[in-house]
Amino acid sequence: MFEEIYHDYLLHKISVNTEERYKGKEGWYHASGAGLCSRKLYYQSVEKLQVPPKKFKDLDAKKRAYKRQARLGVEIHEEIQSSLLLYNNIYNNNILNKKENKENNKKEIKEKLKFIVEGEITIPSLNVRGFYDVLLLDASLPEFKDKPLVKLYDIKTMNGYKWARHFPRGTRTPVNEAENYRLQLATYGIAIKEEYGNLDYIAFIYYNINTQTMRESSIPLDYLEKARRYWYSVNEEHSKGVPEFRLGTSPAEKWVCNYCDFKEYCKPPIF
Ligand code: SF4
Repeated sequence: MFEEIYHDYLLHKISVNTEERYKGKEGWYHASGAGLCSRKLYYQSVEKLQVPPKKFKDLDAKKRAYKRQARLGVEIHEEIQSSLLLYNNIYNNNILNKKENKENNKKEIKEKLKFIVEGEITIPSLNVRGFYDVLLLDASLPEFKDKPLVKLYDIKTMNGYKWARHFPRGTRTPVNEAENYRLQLATYGIAIKEEYGNLDYIAFIYYNINTQTMRESSIPLDYLEKARRYWYSVNEEHSKGVPEFRLGTSPAEKWVCNYCDFKEYCKPPIF
């Protein structure tokens, strides 16, 4: 009973989010869909297909759990973002009390960091739209006092199994980091660079939902050009109609189809 009630609640949250973020903007490609499946992007943004989310009775236990895990990911995103806004409020709006203000040195450094969260980006030349997680304008170093460093972050939550594949024992930089993660982050990067005139750093904030371990890991800025080329190729492919099935691009990997809302409509072959 409780599982089903909670599932219905999750569907409600998804529908509110879709209404708020995507209604009336269905023709834009979703930046978060970068690198997963060109055919899915076509259904979503060219055909503008609407598929109602699956009800509790239509999903197996694994897929129900996947929905709950996704919700947990959203909650963790919101928690981290709230902590950054609180940080802004304390250090940038000067609400510290007198006693705390005695720690002037510490405060001076911290008030030079300004976080912006959940910002909308659009790239009209590529027909892409999305929402980044965290932008940091960093003026903490004297040489960047007047022109802060621009740093962009994407929060990625993952379970222990996926974490172990990303960070095999003893490694601190991810091994086999998902290409779609990188293309997504770099897509936000294209828009930020256009808006701010420069972009100095892009990175993931990884969060293990089993152990609560957090880790930051950057990617090369060259990815911006890679993401630009990716979206050009999607636009070009879609100008000719629905993409053929091709493992690598439609979809990127076999597992993508198992969690795709368009699976029944699309009827993918067994790859
Ligand atoms: S079912 Fe698979 S191939 Fe079809 S749109 Fe979804 S992810 Fe792409």
